[in-house]
Amino acid sequence: MAFTDDYDFDLLKNEAENLVIREMEVQLKAEPKSMCRCNECIVDIAAIALNTIKPLYRFSILGTLYASQAMNEKTYAESVKNAVAQAIKKVKKNPAHD
Ligand SMILES: [Zn+2]
Repeated sequence: MAFTDDYDFDLLKNEAENLVIREMEVQLKAEPKSMCRCNECIVDIAAIALNTIKPLYRFSILGTLYASQAMNEKTYAESVKNAVAQAIKKVKKNPAHD
């Protein structure tokens, strides 16, 4: 049996993903309509933002408690906001496609 067959790693979840996606939704509302919002650009923004912040892995059966606590930490919330703002700026200037 392979190691990955013995254990269920699907229970691992990077809660930072949800936080970044929620923050993107808020910030993109303020961006001009001319900005490309195709799937490629949107997912690119999420990837760039997620690569710049500290991951927030949790064991999914523990629920969202960990994430909501992290969001109360001002520094983590700030880092999510900044990472999303920077990622939007980057992709707006330089989309992943022509
Ligand atoms: Zn695009």
